[in-house]
Amino acid sequence: MSFQEGSVGVEDLVLLEPLEEGSLLKNLKLRYENKEIYTYIGNVVISVNPYQQLPIYGPEFIAKYRDYTFYELKPHIYALANVAYQSLRDRDRDQCILITGESGAGKTEASKLVMSYVAAVCGRGEQVNSVKEQLLQSNPVLEAFGNAKTIRNDNSSRFGKYMDIEFDFKGSPLGGVITNYLLEKSRVVKQLKGERNFHIFYQLLAGADAQLLKALKLKQGTSGYTYLNRDVSRVDGMDDASNFRAVQSAMTVIGFSKDEIQQVLEVTSLVLKLGNIELKDEFQANGIPASGICDRKDIQEIGEMVGLNSEELERALCSRTRETAKEKVVTVLNVIQAQYARDALAKNIYSRLFDWIVNRINESIKVGTGEKKKVMGVLDIYGFEILEDNSFEQFVINYCNEKLQQVFIELTLKEEQEEYKREGIPWTKVDYFDNGIICNLIEHNQRGILAMLDEECLRPGVVSDSTFLAKLNQLFSKHSHYESKVTQNAQHHYDHSMGLSCFRICHYAGKVTYNVNSFIDKNNDLLFRDLSQVMWKAQQPLLRSLFPEGNPKESSLKRPPTAGAQFKSSVAVLMKNLYSKNPNYIRCIKPNEQKQRNQFSSELVAVQARYLGLLENVRVRRAGYAYRQGYKAFLGRYRLLSRSTWPSWNGGDREGVEKVLESLIVSSEELAFGKTKIFIRSPKTLFYLEEQRRLR
Ligand code: ATP
Ligand code: MG
Repeated sequence: MSFQEGSVGVEDLVLLEPLEEGSLLKNLKLRYENKEIYTYIGNVVISVNPYQQLPIYGPEFIAKYRDYTFYELKPHIYALANVAYQSLRDRDRDQCILITGESGAGKTEASKLVMSYVAAVCGRGEQVNSVKEQLLQSNPVLEAFGNAKTIRNDNSSRFGKYMDIEFDFKGSPLGGVITNYLLEKSRVVKQLKGERNFHIFYQLLAGADAQLLKALKLKQGTSGYTYLNRDVSRVDGMDDASNFRAVQSAMTVIGFSKDEIQQVLEVTSLVLKLGNIELKDEFQANGIPASGICDRKDIQEIGEMVGLNSEELERALCSRTRETAKEKVVTVLNVIQAQYARDALAKNIYSRLFDWIVNRINESIKVGTGEKKKVMGVLDIYGFEILEDNSFEQFVINYCNEKLQQVFIELTLKEEQEEYKREGIPWTKVDYFDNGIICNLIEHNQRGILAMLDEECLRPGVVSDSTFLAKLNQLFSKHSHYESKVTQNAQHHYDHSMGLSCFRICHYAGKVTYNVNSFIDKNNDLLFRDLSQVMWKAQQPLLRSLFPEGNPKESSLKRPPTAGAQFKSSVAVLMKNLYSKNPNYIRCIKPNEQKQRNQFSSELVAVQARYLGLLENVRVRRAGYAYRQGYKAFLGRYRLLSRSTWPSWNGGDREGVEKVLESLIVSSEELAFGKTKIFIRSPKTLFYLEEQRRLR
């Protein structure tokens, strides 16, 4: 552990002097330049993406970290994984590892490091190894279907993931459960310039042999597919064809049958082919605009592949049936509406397929109830997001981050308090920003923004994004964390950066302006019943099972929960889960926008440090005592500072530490003697001790 501002800065930001943003950035930069990508804040690991393979991973390093306690070696994700695993195994405390940071910061890589560390140290034997293999192989499958190349990350996770790994009482893995959050399904039908659709489409087209392509009614190459951006089809350093083989074999290891894999690929192909269905203007006899299909080839091939009636599908794409108690009313859709219906169907099929895959993996790796289990949860979830144009997706993502911040502050404070209590040291109250007020603004059951949105979605009559916004403006005009053009005007305060269709929330991490356009639509997330009914009639069992509401017997009039309501309840489950565990944090940082090694942009990192609340974290962490260490280790390091303890000392560790500190000029205010540890209030005192040590 290096305490001194040496060539690589402090290893623990708790020791930072002075404690301010500038010195924090300087420290991270200095370390990064020396290839020290990990830094602690107490037991939190900050990880700065190196964008290069560093020689600090693998069996040799795993073996090293396994044998030492947390502070004895350089900061590392392995050290954190080790502490988490050992306290799970030996102290019987369920753990969770929360990994946050923005896109491209290294969350998914960090989660894989944690998993591979745990897999390497946790038990042996054939049975155990096969469980490990299944758990590890879930990664390539989920990445194929849930990751994509974006501008910011060539392998960007477009969903949030939480995985519980379950162990028996000896610490051997039994299995796990994966929960996924909010797949970015809009990507299925459209990608930004320079971005790709989900990896699986390219893998399939590049890796399938002629026979498979024929069975899936696909042509080789990506150029023939409307849903695949024309401008990028390949990613540097990514071999789609060989990844396709890896995904198939991973699915086999997990336990997917041949037939299941085939059906998954058929549904994937179906989505691509749906995108190729071109729609054209048609007019009914009375002149009302309608729509039709340009070329029936694709729709017929879809019909043949999954066993559904292509005429029914065509009808369902181009018209809509409304059922009232008395009658059925069919209205035709114009081209725009029909295209919308087609895209909605494609997005729905794909996201339901993704959910199905997650469930299917869980079926394989799930552990029977009954057994007593110890659990380690790993959360790899999107960080706080501020884009140029922030929509419903950013709104829910940032809501989730607001909740995670709340968990973080509460649990960190609680843990500090508990340690003080354990050690018999009086606790002093810490002031911190409580973001409960922002969480409430969003999630309050009757008066929160999500509740208002649901109310608008379910209200009969003409509803639109702007009626929703008007309602918010009326309700929250005086809320300290809500702003809009209207509320600003009322306060004679004008901000040109905010449009009329926007509202702004002052999050813990900063202000974000959201555009309400399509909030209602995205929250409703409705698929015309005509389409789900056709899908449900497919002969292919997988596709059919994705649309249970298409079953006429099941078609109750109750609508499924809105997207916002679903997200809110899954966040609530997640929070409950996290609160029941001992948390471990990995905070990931992206050092530059260019995905380049050896480049550290202080401005970019400053923003992330704010979103991650790093300074607040250090402040809370050293609210009482910045530094603490067990008596034995402390004495080992500093006993040479006192004649009483050097060269030999036969007394107890604690008495030894007392003797050392008596012989130095350290105010008693600075120290607290706990049951097993010495606590030191300010980093300066520690630096002073180090200075003395160097002078000897
Ligand atoms: P997203 O939110 O978009 O999913 P992420 O935080 O999960 O982003 P990763 O996919 O983990 O980001 O990392 C992006 C890329 O950065 C990786 O593909 C890899 O090239 C590089 N990278 C991340 N961490 C490391 C590391 N520890 N060592 C080497 N390279 C890394
Ligand atoms: Mg990721």
